[in-house]
Order: sequence, then structure tokens, then C-alpha cells
Amino acid sequence: MIEATGVRKSFAGREVLRGIDLSVPRGSVTCVIGPSGSGKSTFLRCVNRLERPDGGRILVDGDPIGYEPYRDGLRELRRRDLARQRRDIGMVFQRFHLFPHLTALANVVEGPVGAGRPRAEATKEALALLDRVGLADRRDAYPAQLSGGQQQRVAIARALAMRPKLMLFDEPTSALDPELVGEVLDVMRGLAADGMTMLVVTHELGFAREVADEIVFFDDGQILESGPPSRVLTAPEHPRTRDFVTRVL
Ligand code: ADP
Ligand code: MG
Repeated sequence: MIEATGVRKSFAGREVLRGIDLSVPRGSVTCVIGPSGSGKSTFLRCVNRLERPDGGRILVDGDPIGYEPYRDGLRELRRRDLARQRRDIGMVFQRFHLFPHLTALANVVEGPVGAGRPRAEATKEALALLDRVGLADRRDAYPAQLSGGQQQRVAIARALAMRPKLMLFDEPTSALDPELVGEVLDVMRGLAADGMTMLVVTHELGFAREVADEIVFFDDGQILESGPPSRVLTAPEHPRTRDFVTRVL
């Protein structure tokens, strides 16, 4: 579902992604771990083209992200076409970014209706999604009336409403009070069990161990180590991975 090769990105002459190769098979869960500043968020933002890589390429479901076929080759997508391509990729951030003036239900309905789906159909589906994240009874609540965990669950429902092919999560529980982390991870566990392809940046190593098919350790803009949780988390090969894992656990 994701095939990244040689992805590079610099900011102001400093290289923060130094050739990332990563593939995420359809229906699998990959967890990205690693120290702060190692390029995890930048890589996720390259996958849905919130950042434009300086080099390498990223295919999502076979399509080069940010490009379209043109004559014999490819050309860069214009802004509006990029937005259409991006709809296939759900993203959930550390901060929930819900529309504060809209109810939970309206937050979920907004995207699909904006993309041209009939409102009645979008509303029906949004209600089912709110139910799926355990918030059917809070459909009329505004974000300020919801806990952080509930807001994040609405944010997940909102991303799912676009019927994405894959979901990117960037530290979705890092801004939450500890007692609210579990309810969000439960929703993510459910998504994984339903076969959603997921790329998840997280410090929740317990979750990663249990749910991830593959763990990828980022360090200083490179992938230092990757493999199944049983190896990378339990018997890391690289001293820096070992260091990180023992510090976070
Ligand atoms: P992580 O998510 O692993 O903590 P980031 O991808 O956020 O790391 O950041 C990697 C490096 O790139 C950091 O040094 C950060 O300061 C820098 N960086 C990220 N985004 C920008 C930006 N828009 N402009 C300049 N520097 C940035
Ligand atoms: Mg980050």
C-alpha cells in the first residue's frame, strides 16, 4: 500500500530525511518509533504530501504521490488534484484539529459532503462511524464538551469518513492524559483488526508490540533497524535502538 524509496528532505540545508526506504503491505500495521527530531513526522507528512520530498519517491496503492501520468512520464499534480489524491490517505495528528464550532457529527459529515457525497448518505455513515469509535451518544456535543480522548476518537471517525485506503497516525495519544490513552488505542486496535493499513508513529511500545506487524526505528533521518516487534523491541540489534527501547519502556 505504501512503497517509499530513497526519500530525502532538507530544511534550510539540513537533511532531516536521509534516504528512507519503507514498504507497508496492504492490511498491515507498521509502527514508527525513534527519538524526537529523528524525522518521523516529516516522513508521514511526505507520505500524504503535506511536505514535498527533495528526492526519492512514494507510491501509495501504486500511484506516485504528488504526480500524475503525463505523456510518457509524470508531472506534478496541481493543488486541487493533490487534494483529491490526499483523500485516500487518512491522517490523525497529536492535536485533534476538530472544527470547534461544529458538533461531533457535523465534524465527521463535513469532509464527505465537501467531497460531493449526498448529505443524507454521509450522515448515515457518520453515525455508524461515531458508533464504531464508541461515541454515538455524543453526536451532538461540541469539541469543547468532549474529553481529549473523545475528541481524538471523533478525529479518527472524521478521517475514516473519507473512506481512506490507509491511515497515518502521528503520536495520536501523546497529547492525552494517561487515563484517556487506552480508549484511543482500543479504537486503533479495532481498525487494525478490521484490516486497515496503518502507519503509526507512537511511543506506546506496548501497543506497538501487540498490534504492529513491523516496527521501524528512526534515528537522525534514517531507518536504523526494522523488523517484527518480537525482534526490534525484544532483542534490538543496534545499540541506539536498545537504548531507546529501554528508555521508553
Ligand atoms: P520527529 O517527528 O521525529 O520528532 P520531525 O520530523 O518533526 O521529527 O523533525 C525532524 C527535524 O526536522 C527536526 O530537527 C525539526 O526541527 C525539523 N523540521 C521539521 N519540520 C520543519 C520545518 N517545517 N522547517 C524547518 N525544520 C523542520
Ligand atoms: Mg513528530
